[in-house]
Amino acid sequence: LRATVSAIQKETGFINGIIIVLHDITEQEKIDQDRREFVANVSHELRTPLTTMRSYLDALAEGAWQDKEIAPSFLHVTQTETERMIRLVNDLLQLSKLDSEDYRFSRDPVNFVKFYHYIIDRFEMTIEQGITFVRELPDEAIYVAVDQDKITQVLDNIISNAIKYSPEGGTITFSIEQHTHEIVVSIKDQGMGIPKSNLSKIFERFYRVDKARTRKLGGTGLGLAIAKEIIEAHDGRIWAESKEGVGTSIYFTLPIESENDEEWE
Ligand code: ADP
Repeated sequence: LRATVSAIQKETGFINGIIIVLHDITEQEKIDQDRREFVANVSHELRTPLTTMRSYLDALAEGAWQDKEIAPSFLHVTQTETERMIRLVNDLLQLSKLDSEDYRFSRDPVNFVKFYHYIIDRFEMTIEQGITFVRELPDEAIYVAVDQDKITQVLDNIISNAIKYSPEGGTITFSIEQHTHEIVVSIKDQGMGIPKSNLSKIFERFYRVDKARTRKLGGTGLGLAIAKEIIEAHDGRIWAESKEGVGTSIYFTLPIESENDEEWE
């Protein structure tokens, strides 16, 4: 609710009345406000790499291109910044696709245990020395109806964060817990953790706990927002638990469909 107060003043200067108007900030206004904020964020996120590139390109144009020492490193900066913009635009396109109402998921029954192993294997192949992967996964198959490409993206975003924030010698633990109607999937790291007051915000678009540091690590601030959209579209929930200096766990649920459900017919 927003209140506007105005005074009714006579020519003599006396105030003989006050009008208070109460505005109900409607859902639409909230949406408009979010949209304006989103556009401002996007513009800011794009302006930063663009202004960086402009200064390096200016320096190159003014003569640095002839300097064999400096030129390669200046070009490298412009390449890095270009890559960051491409990542950002790809993430934005992904979000806008998820936002559009006629976007359809193709959900098929998948043995989630096997699928999770496959995703973890992929990361284990590329991981640098110094991080250990631990799997706490059931032996038997658990069938869940998912859009494999989309859930791959969710896991990619969460696991790459876990790796990014893991210390040298850290362990990342992957697990699946089976309940009657859902599975709980988790990824637990031993990184620096997230302060309690920031914890619920990490799933918001563009939110980063430490802007300067995470930018350097190449983040767009959209990874977990995308993960949340995808999990909610699968009728699941996603949340984080964290302790500073101890580590972070990201959890998400996926419903287990019974064979009588419509989706399976
Ligand atoms: P980014 O692209 O910046 O990683 P995300 O949406 O994936 O964006 O994450 C949002 C923010 O949450 C990150 O910038 C980081 O501050 C914090 N965060 C996410 N995962 C972790 C983690 N495993 N450990 C510590 N901080 C994390």
